[in-house]
Amino acid sequence: MRAVTYHGTHDVRVDTVPDPEIVNPRDAIIKVTSTAICGSDLHIYDGVIPGMLTGDILGHEFMGEVVETGRASTLDIGQRVVVPFVIACGSCFFCNKRQYSACDNSNPAEKQDISETAFGRPSSGLFGYSHMTGGYAGGQAEYVRVPFSDVGPVVVPDGLDDEQVLFLSDILPTGWMAADNADIEEGDTVAVWGCGPVGLFAIQSALLMGAHQVIAIDHYPNRLALARKLGAEIIDYRQTDVREALTEMTGGIGPDAVIDAVGMESHGFAVDNILDTLKQTVGIGADRAHALRQAILACRKGGRISMPGVYGGLVDKFPLGALMEKGLQLRTGQTHVQRYSHDLLKRIEAGDIDTTFLISHRLPLEEAPRGYKNFKDNQDEWTKVVLRPGG
Ligand SMILES: [Zn+2]
Ligand SMILES: [Zn+2]
Repeated sequence: MRAVTYHGTHDVRVDTVPDPEIVNPRDAIIKVTSTAICGSDLHIYDGVIPGMLTGDILGHEFMGEVVETGRASTLDIGQRVVVPFVIACGSCFFCNKRQYSACDNSNPAEKQDISETAFGRPSSGLFGYSHMTGGYAGGQAEYVRVPFSDVGPVVVPDGLDDEQVLFLSDILPTGWMAADNADIEEGDTVAVWGCGPVGLFAIQSALLMGAHQVIAIDHYPNRLALARKLGAEIIDYRQTDVREALTEMTGGIGPDAVIDAVGMESHGFAVDNILDTLKQTVGIGADRAHALRQAILACRKGGRISMPGVYGGLVDKFPLGALMEKGLQLRTGQTHVQRYSHDLLKRIEAGDIDTTFLISHRLPLEEAPRGYKNFKDNQDEWTKVVLRPGG
């Protein structure tokens, strides 16, 4: 089959690789019909995710048709499914608490060393996201093996097309959990750093959860325009001092909740960010956390911080004093996709949530390298790329 593979920093290719096979009774094989490139795939593309090997198949946002099932799979051949990017067994200590992205059974024992060393405990398995998270082949391919297929995949009802449900795989539940983690109360003001897909869906979710005012922060005009269309007020951080503006827009007290939807590759010409960039470039493991620092400082006293943005290493210059002295709460984590996906599917069916506005480009799988390059280099125009195997 054809698949998008990793060959080093800024080098992804479409290669011919062996077809996946059923390995465990709970597996299913999916013939991929749509798959997206994610902002977090760009962290791989930029070479800042450890544990990537040449030839690894990328992609964790995908859906398709069930073409083969293991004897313990509950799926039927021919069903259309969207697959969560988090691989979870459904029955361990963590899955029983619905903390699916902490699943203890999905990252094979021989792959756990890196995350156990880096994070103190092994991480769960993720599709297409390095050997640190299990080394699973991703879904930017014609076919993909889905482990624990009786737990994760969401069967798509007739009448919904791929583009309406594809983002249930990651970015919609991730945006939703970002807002959920911000504990939004009716009438709240919420500031969101980053108007990428997760930031935009967090804005949409925060408004559905009752936020009165949502303020979006970015510097890409097109992305800010999308945020405005969703109902957010906007701040272009290249033109405006963010903290001053937020103070002014909130009657002097600051936002009730702040959401960092930027993560480890923050942009911006600020002193802390220049130092972070240098450290990340020379490979001494520092994340670029400028957006998070700014969010913590801007948040009102007693407010909440939600951090859906991906971080993988260490940060310094962290405003720990502000966190403590202002009595802030911080919640974060890889998304517990399985906790949210069924409810979000109902909201899509009911017409309460439409995510199709985000898709700017549709490409055949063979053009994935062009998709990655442009999604990285021209983030303003290329808001979301959907790849179609065989398209
Ligand atoms: Zn993703
Ligand atoms: Zn589990």
